[in-house]
Amino acid sequence: MSQSPREEIYKKMAELLKAGNTMLAESCPDCKVPLFKMKDGKIICPSCNRVAIYVKHGEEESVNRYQVIEKLISTVTGKLVEIESAIANEYDEVRLKNKVDLMISLLDAYEKLSKLKGS
Ligand SMILES: [Zn+2]
Repeated sequence: MSQSPREEIYKKMAELLKAGNTMLAESCPDCKVPLFKMKDGKIICPSCNRVAIYVKHGEEESVNRYQVIEKLISTVTGKLVEIESAIANEYDEVRLKNKVDLMISLLDAYEKLSKLKGS
């Protein structure tokens, strides 16, 4: 008894997941099966059995870049909230100046990150 090609693909996908590889949101342009990112960073189609780098590679990099920027923005935003309350409770002039400088740096970083995100 032989399995249908589709069952074989599902079986292979399950095996890939079990082995700790990641299923990507993108699918293979040829067979529409979800692409997998292997632990070594290679992107493969479990159906065509081939390494899919081509255009997907660049797209994946831009996705990662976007995620890093998003993460940085949320970190900077969190720090700004912290520094805001620190400034509100600071009455020592020297320390207040340091905190205001830090806030300005954070705002600067926030602005730059927002621009990067938009580009
Ligand atoms: Zn394929």
